[in-house]
Amino acid sequence: MHSIVLLGSTGSIGVNTLEIATRYNITIEALVAGNNIDLLNQQIAIHRPKTVVIADETQRHGVNHSDVRCGEKAILEVIEESQSEMVVNALVGYVGLAPTLKATSLGKKVALANKESLVIAGELIDKTRIIPIDSEHFGLWYLLSSRPFSKLIITASGGAFREWEVSKMHQATFSDALKHPNWSMGQKITIDSATMTNKLFELLEAKWLFDTNAIDAYIEKKSIIHALVEFVDGSTTAHFAGVDMKLPIAFALLGEINEPILPAVNLLEMGEIAFSPIEESRYPIWQIKTDILNRPHLGVVVNAANEMAIEAFKRERCSFFGMSEIVLDAYKKFETIKPTSIEEIIKIDQEVRHSIL
Ligand code: NDP
Repeated sequence: MHSIVLLGSTGSIGVNTLEIATRYNITIEALVAGNNIDLLNQQIAIHRPKTVVIADETQRHGVNHSDVRCGEKAILEVIEESQSEMVVNALVGYVGLAPTLKATSLGKKVALANKESLVIAGELIDKTRIIPIDSEHFGLWYLLSSRPFSKLIITASGGAFREWEVSKMHQATFSDALKHPNWSMGQKITIDSATMTNKLFELLEAKWLFDTNAIDAYIEKKSIIHALVEFVDGSTTAHFAGVDMKLPIAFALLGEINEPILPAVNLLEMGEIAFSPIEESRYPIWQIKTDILNRPHLGVVVNAANEMAIEAFKRERCSFFGMSEIVLDAYKKFETIKPTSIEEIIKIDQEVRHSIL
């Protein structure tokens, strides 16, 4: 039995992580959440963590625990004080970066759902400490062997607008973009799926984790095949699994599993499987796919611009395609940056955000 610190416990990944933790008697040393205090209190009652962190001081009185801390510094403090050898980072966005750096610098393992950490600062993170919680990267890891591969392929569902006329997408609203066809996930990643930014992030994530630029993504609308590996010999293998994050989470937490986590995919009921390319007319962000793999340090720019763009779209200050325009403009404007330290990355993140305000 081991223990974990869980960041983002009230989110989609956090809740699934607690299900796996319960099944395998994993102790929860600390719970970190944002504003969903009701759910957090239920989790405290069940898992009895030593410490709890929430985002906002004003909600402290509502939390049923004797050691409640608040804010981003408190997250780092709790990681530093913890005995657990593993931190599960299921925070969303930029706020997840500092905890990833803190935990890895302390020699802890990070089960990382917060892909933004790798997008922003992949070059400066100790990847030997990272175990990804992402179905595509789990699929790749599952498929890879000692045989030389020529290409890694991850799949995309195509997001909320994959069947829409491109002309109609100009009028798409935030709530339209939240209607993901296959996965039930947090708001940000669902919007990132509609724009394909999520897949761009996953290419960067794969680059850092598997140390290659030979990586591409295709649309597979059923989300049954999550990853494929093309080997040098001409063989291609594919990873089939149900649409459920508990499988990658269980492997990240336990290392190896030899019992059922999900039911096997029913091949006879699955119907047709088809692959299609990701088209720039529907997903303009895809224009920078090849370039960013060669200049991955621009991930900090794309991430900051994307977080600002999502906020603008949510507040109806830009259109759906306006989000990609904001990101592509920032990418052009900041193309000469080349950060070599976390301090520089933090500075560039701020500059990009201010340039969009
Ligand atoms: P959610 O929005 O569902 O959850 C985010 C979690 O972070 C919530 O617990 C939220 O708290 C917490 N949080 C946000 N800001 C703060 C803050 N400032 N301080 C403390 N806690 C905070 O996101 P997901 O679970 O969908 O995604 C989490 C990460 O995992 C993302 O990086 C995403 O890209 C990645 N991921 C998600 C997948 C999925 O299936 N959902 C699949 C693969 C990767 P609260 O809700 O209480 O405000």
